[in-house]
Parts: sequence; C-alpha cells; structure tokens
Amino acid sequence: MTYPDTGLLIGGKWREAADGRTLPVLNPATGREIGRVARAGIADLDDALAAAQRGFDVWRGVSAFERRNIMRLAASLLRDRADEIAAILTQEQGKPLREARLEALAAADIVDWFADEGMRVYGRIVPSRNSTTSQMVLKDPVGPVAAFTPWNFPINQVVRKAAAALATGCSILVKAAEETPAAPAALIKAFVDAGVPAGVVGLVYGDPSEISAYLIPHPIIRKITFTGSTAVGKQLAALAGLHMKRVTMELGGHAPVIVAEDADLELAIKVSSTAKFRNAGQVCISPTRFLVHESLSAEFASGFASYASGLKIGDGMAADTEMGPLANARRVEAMQVFTQDAVQHGARLLAGGATVGGEGNFFAPTVLADVPLEAKVFNDEPFGPMAAIRSFKTLDEAIAEANRLSYGLAGYAFTKSLKNAHQLAQRVEVGMLWVNQPAQPSAEMPFGGIKSSGYGTEGGPEALEAYINTRSVVMANV
Ligand code: NAD
Repeated sequence: MTYPDTGLLIGGKWREAADGRTLPVLNPATGREIGRVARAGIADLDDALAAAQRGFDVWRGVSAFERRNIMRLAASLLRDRADEIAAILTQEQGKPLREARLEALAAADIVDWFADEGMRVYGRIVPSRNSTTSQMVLKDPVGPVAAFTPWNFPINQVVRKAAAALATGCSILVKAAEETPAAPAALIKAFVDAGVPAGVVGLVYGDPSEISAYLIPHPIIRKITFTGSTAVGKQLAALAGLHMKRVTMELGGHAPVIVAEDADLELAIKVSSTAKFRNAGQVCISPTRFLVHESLSAEFASGFASYASGLKIGDGMAADTEMGPLANARRVEAMQVFTQDAVQHGARLLAGGATVGGEGNFFAPTVLADVPLEAKVFNDEPFGPMAAIRSFKTLDEAIAEANRLSYGLAGYAFTKSLKNAHQLAQRVEVGMLWVNQPAQPSAEMPFGGIKSSGYGTEGGPEALEAYINTRSVVMANV
C-alpha cells in the first residue's frame, strides 16, 4: 500500500520547507519508516502567517451561502475518498481500517453540519430605549486561527476546528501531529479541491513547541485552539493569556464509568468493553475508571476480561484486526509502568498486561480489578488499552470518586433507575455524560470538558461562537 510524503500547505501551494528539512513518519504496526513530512522553520511560518491573513481578508468577504456550498463540496469529496484516506490514516496511526474509514466519514458529516450552521450566525436588532437611536449586535469572524492537533484522531481533531473556522469566515493555520501527517493533509486537500481560496487553510509541521511559541503570540493570530494533554494545554493557555488571545482547550480526561446496583450488567459490560479498546484506548473520552457496585463487580470484571482476551490484535490494515498497535513507543512504555504500578499496589491482573509480538507498538488489552485508589492508573490518564476496575458500596461514594480528580471530560453511567440517572446527571462533574449507552458525539451536541479537561466546546452552536466576535453598534437615527 502506498503512503504519501507530506508537505506544507502555504498560500494554497503544497511545498517543502524552505531549508528542505524533513522528519520521518513511522508505521506503528512495524516501527519502520514509511514516509517523510516537511519540517517548517520560522521562514515557513512567516509565509504561512502572511497567507493566513490574506486568506482571511478574502474569506470573510465570501457570503455564508457560498462558504456553505464550498464546504459541502469538500464533505462530498471526503466521502468519495474515504477508503483511500482510511488506508493512509491506518498506516500512520495504527487503528483498524474500519475505524479509520468511520473517522473520514464522520469528518464529512461534521463539515456538512458546520457548513449549514454557519448560515445561522445571526446578529440582532435590539429595541432602543428611545426613538432617536438604533441598536445592533454584529457577529464577525474572529480572524486567523492557529490550531494544534494530536495524533489519536488525526482527521477528527482537525476537522472540528477547521469546519468551525471556515463556517464563520475565519482562516485557519493547522499544526497537526508530526506522527500522523498525511491524513490531516488529505482532509485539508478536500477543502482546497472544493475551492477554498488560497491561504484560508494552511498546514504546517515541525517542532511543536517552537511552532506554538511562535504562532500564539504572533499579532496575525487572533484565536488559539488546542487538543492534547492537560500539561501542554496549560502551557499554551498561559501563553495565549499573556497575549490576550481567544482560546479553546480540549484536553485529557479520565472518564468514570459508574455501574449502579440496579444496572443492566450485560449492557454495561458490552458497551464498556467495546468502547474501552476502540483506537486501543487512545481516545480522550475513553472509559477509564470503572466504578462498579460491589454486588456486580466480580461478574463485571470477569466479563470484561473475557472480552479483552478474545480481541484480535494486529496490523490495522488486516481485515480481521479488532485492535491495532499504540500510536507510538511512548504509550507502550506508559502501559508497562501503569500495569507494574497497579500490581505493586495490590490490583489483580485479569487480562493482558504485556507487549504483544516482536515488532510494532502492540500492548495487550489489559484489565485490572480491585485497583486501589493510590495506583497511578486511577489518577493519571492511561490513554491506552487499559481498564481499571474497583467496587463501591453507595452511589454517593461512586460520585465522590468520579469527582475526585481534576479531570472533567467524559463520564458514563449504567442504571435502570430514573432517580439514579438524575442524581448522576446533576452531580457528576463532566462535560459529557452518557447514560446506558456508548459515547455518541455528534456535530450538533457540545463536545468539551470542564475543570482541568479544558474550556470551550467543539460541537453545537457554541462551537461557532468560539470563532466569532460579538460587537455592539448604536447609531443615531438621522
Ligand atoms: P504530549 O502532551 O507530548 O503531546 C500531545 C499533542 O500535543 C501532540 O500532538 C504534540 O505534538 C502536541 N504538543 C506537545 N507539546 C506541544 C507544544 N509545546 N505546542 C504545541 N503542541 C504540542 O503527549 P503525547 O505523548 O503525544 O500523548 C500522550 C498524552 O497526550 C496522553 O496521555 C493524553 O493525555 C494526551 N492526548 C490527548 C488527546 C486528546 O484527544 N485530548 C489526544 C492525544 C494525546
């Protein structure tokens, strides 16, 4: 299967870095180099910034209807190219082809929704207190945006930002992950091919901290959006604050799953285990802290472990693979540390806990039961194929544990009682809660966290607000 090298997109042209430097791209299933990505230097960033300003000047003048038409064409190109894009994504990121294809198709859906929603960015006329003035509220695009995105969903993380920016009339300069460069390039190519004017979308790669340190303070950039770890998010938010830049932060999570005494146990096991190993657990909303009522915990843990042990692990390009490798060697090392630490603290290892095969970043689906709260896995985001289970006696106890950490991204609950469901909805401190069902993110619903999981949302009408200046104009009636 061919895999393309990736260049920089600056001013509507794909090009090498000015100094010709490149970085290797590795296939996580083999550890071998499959291609190269251009490594931007400051001269390239200056070109990209100037292009983003020119792009904004053009795009803000294009009507919302015309922007919608171009975006809808891009969505249709994404659908036509889904198989091709999926093969690229799987080779660089590792997830099974089926998941990669769904990611490309979901991107098309997101573009469609934002394209339409962009036509509903209304200002308003506000009745005046006297007849001598008119009061208007105007909504304008915020300006050129700098977006920083990670490797776990190379397309999805970019498209939520790009679609919101384009729908509102902003230009956007994306710094996607160097580990997975070609899938974001394929996404952005769809926008270019659909007729988005030069400079409206740019794409660069390089040294992440060098690029963010240069772009965030730069006067051309008016808004920052980042998806990644809480640690890096805090640094970037601090820098943005120093320069009074608008910010959206979609950061890490450590999703509690509360299985109440009256839960449908079969449903809880099926939904949770399937969700846990999707994208090998490298999902910001992945279920991670399983809190199960003591009357159900033994059965829950054994059902979970039997599902985990039966998963077919392999290269994501193989048709029968159910879980691929981890995206990079850092995650494999992290899984080893989490496992050893949990076992040392007295947890029982029911499945996995070790690397698989001689090459690539494979780690077996891992299930740990009776995990003490002190274990690292119950405190730090595992971001891998690892389920940590412990029991509770009362729902209050479970809710207190769910809220103990500073994370507040996703949460899950299983209960047959409306009373419990209401309690959980009111009291679990997360940005997104799913009850008796798997996560179901959609473009029209808010997507984002609270507490240390970030601020702002990447779904629903609020996602567009993040790219809009709201201004007040009052004028005398003459
Ligand atoms: P990391 O924090 O080093 O990097 C995460 C992402 O941020 C990468 O894409 C990286 O290129 C980028 N990044 C890092 N430093 C940056 C900087 N100074 N400026 C701009 N971008 C920067 O972590 P990692 O080892 O790549 O991933 C592991 C952790 O990242 C996980 O434990 C998880 O918490 C987090 N993560 C979260 C998401 C998410 O969807 N929220 C996605 C990927 C990774």
